[in-house]
Amino acid sequence: MTSPSEVPSEVGDYLTPSELPKPKLKRTSTGFTPNQILTYEAAIPESARNIWTKYSQLSLTDHQRSQPTKEHEVLTTKQGFEKAFVSHTELTLARNMYNCDELAAYMAAATTIRDGLVLDWGNTQQKQTIHDGKRVYYLSLEFLMGRAMDNALINLKCRDNTQESLAELGFSLEDILNQEPDAALGNGGLGRLAACYVDSLSSKNYSGWGYGLNYQYGIFQQKIIDGYQVEFPDYWLRYSTPWEVDRKEIQIPVDFNGYVYEDVDPNTGKSHKVWSGGERVLAVAADYPIPGYNTQNTNNLRLWNAKPTNEFDFSKFNAGDYQQSVGSQQKAEAITAVLYPNDNFEQGKLLRLTQQYFWVAASLHDIVRRFKKMHKDNYAIFPDKVAIQLNDTHPTLAIVELQRILVDLEGLEWNTAWDIVTRVFAYTNHTVMAEALEKWPVDIIGKLLPRHLEIIYDINYYFLQDVQKKFPEDRDLLASVSVIEEGQRKQVRMAYLAIIGSHKVNGVAELHSELIKTTIFKDFVKVFGPDKFTNVTNGITPRRWLRQANPELAELISDLLNDPNYEYLTNLGQLKNIERYADNDKVLQRWNQIKFDNKQKLAQLAKDLTGVEINPKYLFDVQVKRIHEYKRQQMNIFSVIYRYIKIKELLSQGKSLAEVAKTFIPKVSIFGGKAAPGYYMAKTVIHLINKVGDVINNDKEIGDLLRVVFIPDYNVSKAEIICPGSDISNHISTAGTEASGTSNMKFALNGGIIIGTVDGANVEITREIGEENIFLFGHLSEEVDDLRHNNNYKGVQVPKSLQQVFDLIYSGKFGNVDEFRPLIESIAQHGDYYLVSNDFDMYLEAQQKLEKVYGTRRWTQMSVVSVANMGFFSSDRCVDEYAENIWNIEPLSQ
Ligand SMILES: *Cc1c(COP(=O)(O)O)cnc(C)c1O
Repeated sequence: MTSPSEVPSEVGDYLTPSELPKPKLKRTSTGFTPNQILTYEAAIPESARNIWTKYSQLSLTDHQRSQPTKEHEVLTTKQGFEKAFVSHTELTLARNMYNCDELAAYMAAATTIRDGLVLDWGNTQQKQTIHDGKRVYYLSLEFLMGRAMDNALINLKCRDNTQESLAELGFSLEDILNQEPDAALGNGGLGRLAACYVDSLSSKNYSGWGYGLNYQYGIFQQKIIDGYQVEFPDYWLRYSTPWEVDRKEIQIPVDFNGYVYEDVDPNTGKSHKVWSGGERVLAVAADYPIPGYNTQNTNNLRLWNAKPTNEFDFSKFNAGDYQQSVGSQQKAEAITAVLYPNDNFEQGKLLRLTQQYFWVAASLHDIVRRFKKMHKDNYAIFPDKVAIQLNDTHPTLAIVELQRILVDLEGLEWNTAWDIVTRVFAYTNHTVMAEALEKWPVDIIGKLLPRHLEIIYDINYYFLQDVQKKFPEDRDLLASVSVIEEGQRKQVRMAYLAIIGSHKVNGVAELHSELIKTTIFKDFVKVFGPDKFTNVTNGITPRRWLRQANPELAELISDLLNDPNYEYLTNLGQLKNIERYADNDKVLQRWNQIKFDNKQKLAQLAKDLTGVEINPKYLFDVQVKRIHEYKRQQMNIFSVIYRYIKIKELLSQGKSLAEVAKTFIPKVSIFGGKAAPGYYMAKTVIHLINKVGDVINNDKEIGDLLRVVFIPDYNVSKAEIICPGSDISNHISTAGTEASGTSNMKFALNGGIIIGTVDGANVEITREIGEENIFLFGHLSEEVDDLRHNNNYKGVQVPKSLQQVFDLIYSGKFGNVDEFRPLIESIAQHGDYYLVSNDFDMYLEAQQKLEKVYGTRRWTQMSVVSVANMGFFSSDRCVDEYAENIWNIEPLSQ
């Protein structure tokens, strides 16, 4: 591995004095600190300098200015936008007025907005470097960003200018925005959380970068064919993306395989380990500017591409196999080709481990290089300058890699290095479910990363020594906290390594953070004490999930708060002040109208994607999220079947549709979500939902009392339409399984009512909005172990209601019975691990209860009061909590 100092530098980073160019200028370096600017400036001939200054858009030397931004005219004037738009159409895209279709118009508009954005971005990087404060790096293997353009228009406050300019040029903003493909570099909640956090880091003026992978293929596109999920590749960069700034010059070599030997320094006689002889690939940076709201602060999201090196296998070449020599190089790009499509499930594939190391090695060397430019090898202050957050265990190898850099490459003593490492890292746990906890076989790590395996063993050895000293009597404890799990095939427990290498470990909602302390990590609480474990309840960015997704509601709130500049979007506690309008008829009426408008948009989406017409006057009952047994979409569709059975029963007793509607109000069940391609049970659930929809939607007898739609290819931009258009949304996981959930927050912030279990962040949402404004049901997490035990040993008690549902499925009403058999048998015969039979009747009761309130004044009041009390769930609050309790960093004054 090349030492970090040999790696080329980057725009926006700054040289140490010793690296400064000699007066006879050779333009090979980039970046400046204030003092260096003076020296560098002196070396540029005055005539050249004058030309640069005349045309420069940046104000690099003006670093003391109090008004930081040269407001860019493309963002503030129609003339500026239109001029740049036409220029980009003609010069960047090589098109013209006569062949500028909507896609070209999107590209030209996005590139124009980006022009304004990159100036803020450059200024921000300079400001952060000059300030030389502590920076945080958020390492996440997933960033589920969605679309960038509307978000940029909102955060830069140039939406109106852009809309008007585009209209003058003959385009509708909405159509142009719809041209953008989602950046879907994530599976679900975990990836979307990372996206919300980078938005908040910028908006709250932190120096905070994201580091991830620039997958060429995001999460697959889902189509429903004959009722089955079929996956299609998501080649989202087909037209390239204007939001990416290629940093081809930032290339970091990353090594794999090879062997380790011991080298003795002839001068000192000291020995150290050398990792050598492996294969090398390059990590090349692709940067995405992350604009803050109402601030110039624009952080960076750096995603790595894997590329081949220039080296190639001369032995093969000399043997006449040029083709193969180049061909094996080509493999490099496979590392960042595709996102693993599993949510809450680890498959243990070699390529996945390769991705993980590639990403953390590149990111850490980048971080260390940035540190060294300012502070050389003064590693004692490294933890004062760098905080690294591990989003789940996926980046755990970063702990090992930093220890390796410090000990093997930089020559620090083991203990000195380890003290630095543990002060830098913090780890966020996202699940307690066994199948999602990462473990890697020792032999696989040993082959791919031989030196890292040695370091892991050493870390474990010293850790267990400490444990033994502290608890000399407790033999079992050593085995239970060991990073190495013994067995047929020894495995490395990544979560344990993450805990040992971090100074803080957090869960993502109060219930979940308590659960990890009492279950999977309880022995570590014993070893480290309780203070190492903390909670940061998840949040969502109100810029995207309120202002962007629901402009009408955002505007009403801005009116009610008398806040024409939408300042409340970075101070979401302000929402509390709308609570007093919960009795105001005019407001309630407008509130209902907005919900209706949003339901119309959702109905249109459903019609466009499925052909099914749904009436926005009826109750919209939504469940959109990844399809997973623990999230219990099966329980939802069973309840729909039950409703259908009951409606048919009443009709067969001679009741009219109008009479039936008194018991079963007209309702539309809306589903959406992807199943991991290899998750058979989840795919069965999707198939059942679609088959049930076919039957119910085509049953003329029931009129329009019931509709079922499955919206294909659920993603962020669809969520932005679906969340504002729901009356109720389902968050009905088996208690104790959903760590937090974030779509529960999206729905509630948009005035939707939740039907849910006492799980994840539902608990805190209830505390904030009041238990009279949410429909909770089901067994509690404390009861789950006993219920499972009883289901296993006494047999599952399928309630009568659910048995009727099973009977109808077994009658063949929804197609081939054999296809649905495993789903039913997992409940009725195999212990019902997710407790569907235990919670089913309570679920039905909760539905009845809420349907009595739906459509009344009280319902709208619930909605208003909910929104008024959702301020806590802004991701701005989350990054503030991380900054204060975990990272120890402060915002940069603007
Ligand atoms: C918010 C979001 C999620 C997370 O949903 P949960 O219901 O919290 O699991 C998943 N996918 C997308 C596209 C989202 O926007």
